Amino acid sequence: MQALIENLVKLQAIELDRARLAQEARALPAETAQAEAALAAAERRAADASAALNREDVLRTRLEREIEAHRQKAARFRVQLDSVKTPAQAEAIEHEIQFAAMETGRLENEEYASLERTETQEAALAEARSQVELLAASLEAIRARVNVRRQELDAQMAMLDASREAVRKLIEPDWLERFDRLAAARGTGIALAENQQCTGCRMGLRPQTWNELREGKLLACDSCSRLLYWDPAMAPAPKPPQPAAIPGAGRAVRKPHQAGG
Ligand SMILES: [Zn+2]
Repeated sequence: MQALIENLVKLQAIELDRARLAQEARALPAETAQAEAALAAAERRAADASAALNREDVLRTRLEREIEAHRQKAARFRVQLDSVKTPAQAEAIEHEIQFAAMETGRLENEEYASLERTETQEAALAEARSQVELLAASLEAIRARVNVRRQELDAQMAMLDASREAVRKLIEPDWLERFDRLAAARGTGIALAENQQCTGCRMGLRPQTWNELREGKLLACDSCSRLLYWDPAMAPAPKPPQPAAIPGAGRAVRKPHQAGG
């Protein structure tokens, strides 16, 4: 019975370690994904700033072309002004020159506003690019770390799998089946009885059960059905027959959960 209990406890420790490793392995891609998302966002900001700068460039090229056209028009009108015949003609031409000057001024203001926007976008682009650089380096580091960790986890898992196989061979199929069913349903298949309680579900144990457990029996919890065992190493205090109590000997020291291997 004692060997069975020890093997089941060992199996449970292995299963819990495997679950912990599997959980950590499942969380690894999220770390990379988060860094990838941050980098992608910075790249989008850089691309947006770059596109905005291109639009301003295109806009200013058009504005300059239009400004030049108005200047040439004004120059042509000034030449015509030299050969006008009537004051009405002169007035009409003056009006055209004035209009061209006004348009030139308006377009120059637009160009100035575009230059101001360009300055803002250039700062945004520089900021986004330095972010891209930092985040790309950080992503590289995270990928490398995640890879190393994954390999470590794989190696640890392989060791646990080997220990698991070994210990399962030592347990009779009926007990294994019962343990597996409980572990699948409740997360753990075997629980320590401590202070007359099942540590799996915290329900109190009947005195009869408690006594039988202390005799070394493997029982089931009435409440959660987990297999129940008592660990003599966790007995609260040595009884009178051993008068010289070793300090700390009665302390609740956890049974070592060897991960095997
Ligand atoms: Zn229980």
